[in-house]
Amino acid sequence: MSDTMDYEDVVANFDPVLGLEVHVELSTATKMFCGCPNAFGGEPNTHVCPTCLGLPGALPVVNGTGVESAIRIGLGLNCEIAPWCRFARKNYFYPDMPKNFQTSQYDEPIAVNGYLDVELGDGETIRVGIERAHMEEDTGKSSHVGGATGRIHGADYSLLDYNRAGVPLIEIVTKPITGTGRRAPEVARAYVTALRDLLRAMGVSDVRMDQGSLRCDANVSLAPKGSAEFGTRSETKNVNSLRSVERAVRYEMTRQAALLARGEKVVQETRHFQETDGTTSPGRPKETSEDYRYFPEPDLVPIAPSAAWIEQLRATLPELPWERRKRIQAEWNLTDEELRDLVNTGAADLVAATVDAGAPVDDARSWWVQYLTEQANSREAELAELPITPAQVARVIELVAEGTLTTKLGREVVQGVLAGEGDPDEVISARGLEVVSDDSALTAAIDEALAAQPDVVDKIRGGKVQAAGAIVGAVMKATKGQADAKRVRELILERCGVVG
Ligand code: ADP
Ligand code: MG
Ligand code: ZN
Repeated sequence: MSDTMDYEDVVANFDPVLGLEVHVELSTATKMFCGCPNAFGGEPNTHVCPTCLGLPGALPVVNGTGVESAIRIGLGLNCEIAPWCRFARKNYFYPDMPKNFQTSQYDEPIAVNGYLDVELGDGETIRVGIERAHMEEDTGKSSHVGGATGRIHGADYSLLDYNRAGVPLIEIVTKPITGTGRRAPEVARAYVTALRDLLRAMGVSDVRMDQGSLRCDANVSLAPKGSAEFGTRSETKNVNSLRSVERAVRYEMTRQAALLARGEKVVQETRHFQETDGTTSPGRPKETSEDYRYFPEPDLVPIAPSAAWIEQLRATLPELPWERRKRIQAEWNLTDEELRDLVNTGAADLVAATVDAGAPVDDARSWWVQYLTEQANSREAELAELPITPAQVARVIELVAEGTLTTKLGREVVQGVLAGEGDPDEVISARGLEVVSDDSALTAAIDEALAAQPDVVDKIRGGKVQAAGAIVGAVMKATKGQADAKRVRELILERCGVVG
């Protein structure tokens, strides 16, 4: 019997329930409980001090900006902000956590009971409930050296880097998401996308899934269709791209359905997602909260944000992504479908920045939504990850508009920029891509093409001006596409004695 069930059979027989836990690293200047720099990478174990190394006697101090960001995130997610809350110790031993406990929040989180409206690909909006958002700190990083998988099993030895230990994290946990049926994988992806866009707009994190500053754990369970009770969930850890979120949920649905159909039980456990084949494999059996022996953190004072402070923070919230989308649609005069294309390709911000850099809206839109989206898809990257800036795209648009480049040459210039060859102007001079606008250079190519196709010349002279297309084609080929086709056509007609 197969290990997975056909997806259509899964959704015909089971109702999926999702729960998404997202960890976001805040981009504060310093760590959450000490003054060490909060910076990605760096020489291992250089951003450390007695506090984040958990040395005896070192005391933590809470990072005020971290608390402000937590409150702003809570407000952006329509949560209630707790008038009083505190930190808790989550005790467990793991070498990447030098204190042997994580400073987190447990039953007294800073933000509770909110929601995020999430737009799906077809424009339908669903409301995802937010259970809580709480503050905690990141762990260090272990690398397992030797062995085939990079995992601890089979490794010769492990290295530890505590630069990340103590980096501020906000964990955002959804309420169980029900009723999404076959769209569960799409909903999971759309939720993480919407959350990422919100956090990016608030400027609290650089939300780079590829660098781990935004990480998602996906809880999935299945219940027989129509059943009122939830099934047992698995929790797939650290799924590190939007596409993987969707794939991991879908895979778990097909795996659990096959188990249940065989009369077996789903084990409550954490699982790991494999990018290579899109499957998940078992991690550790799930701890229950008792295993962590949570207790209130005695070294940090409770946090009691005043109503005035909360309102002050509310006033700093930027225009939120969905408000912005509404405004853009009106300002740019877009149909619902055009707006959806813009949102689905993740191009809205990039188009806006390209317009700010001087490009007309329609040109900016078509470059990002069409050509650049194709480029991103073929690299399996997000549009925003392409190594080209809105200013560079605006420059290409400008050069095409003024006739220095044809659209085709513009695409080549973009290819050059994506290949790391520098700014558009540098690519143009390095690759020699300018349009041949010098008539005398064109005339030589035209005369050659006319001489090669005398029958076409006769047709043109006889009044069949459409026939000029064949000559235009030959000239474009001879100039490697670097001629302005319109000008070439004019010159051909002129030379054949026909006025265009
Ligand atoms: P844990 O610490 O065990 O991961 P959390 O409360 O942090 O628990 O997160 C559990 C997540 O799973 C939440 O998003 C919750 O809504 C969701 N969830 C709870 N029960 C189920 C279930 N049976 N199926 C799917 N998701 C669930
Ligand atoms: Mg959890
Ligand atoms: Zn430190």
